[in-house]
Order: sequence, then C-alpha cells, then structure tokens
Amino acid sequence: MYYRKFIEFLKEHGIYDEEVVKYYREHWELFDYLDVEKRINMGTNYIIRNGQLEEMRVVVPIMNNDITVLINVHEYIHVLTNYNKINHRAKIKTKDHEVLPIFYEKVYVKENPTEELMEYHNLLNECIDDTPEEQYVLALDISDKLMEDYDNQSIEQVNRKVKKLVFKDTIHKFINK
Ligand SMILES: [Zn+2]
Repeated sequence: MYYRKFIEFLKEHGIYDEEVVKYYREHWELFDYLDVEKRINMGTNYIIRNGQLEEMRVVVPIMNNDITVLINVHEYIHVLTNYNKINHRAKIKTKDHEVLPIFYEKVYVKENPTEELMEYHNLLNECIDDTPEEQYVLALDISDKLMEDYDNQSIEQVNRKVKKLVFKDTIHKFINK
C-alpha cells in the first residue's frame, strides 16, 4: 500500500520515470526501519570507476509508513537526478545536490501533515542545525524558498530555479566576505 503511495506521489509531481524506478528497485537493498542499527547505512552509494559513475546502490527501508516513504522519495530523487550520468564523467556531489531531495521531502510532508511525519521532519532539520554541513544548510534554505511558490511545476522548472537561487547565494556570500 505504501509502495503504491510512493509511486502515486512521483506521478503526481512529474518525477516518475519508469526506467529509473526499475533501476531504483533493481539497485536497492531493503531493510526494516525498526532495525535501528541498519539505519546508519541508509543512503545512495555512488560507485565510481575510472572517474565515471558506474552504478548507484541504494540502502532504504521497506515502505510501510509515511516516514519510510519519505526516505525513499529522498533517495529516489538522488537516483533520478544522477541517472543520466551513468557511464559518464560527471560530478555527483555538487554543493546543491541535496536541494531537490530535501525539497520533495518537504512537498511530501506538506501533503501528508501527520504528527508522526512532522515530528520526524523537524528532527531532521534540527540535526542539520546542530551539525551544519554546507550542502544541507543550503538545501534547507533553498528548498524553503522553492516551497513558497511551488505549484506542481516540472522538476526541470524547479531545477532551473534551484540554479538561480544557488547562484544568488554564492554571489551573496562572495559580496559579504
Ligand atoms: Zn541526500
């Protein structure tokens, strides 16, 4: 049931791609989210050989509630946005690579404002505040701005806006140095 919810969310927001979903499922290693020790391995691993992205492997929880769907949305966006880079020489972890995954998390939370999910999401944000890593701080900031006028635009349109905002942010920091 939650897997279906995941797919519906992707479809509703124009981020469903049959080939990528297939790839995602073929490269995921599922675990039970209740198994706390396994959470440490959660995420997308990029296998790079000779400077080229060869493969992505994802460690994600089985989808059986909104939190586990949210985590899958995040990792799926990583796979989706890097899918075209497979077998190419490309930079994966650009400084804005967390923006879109975090943005679509926010969209999901907004559409599913359950107490459980809000709590989880706030906790994540607090973690970022406590140990600020540039990529996450930037992602929180920019995804907030994107939420302000998001009206189900395509991911390409959202991404164009991301580039503009990142550029602005860079200039701003440069000027304030
Ligand atoms: Zn991420």
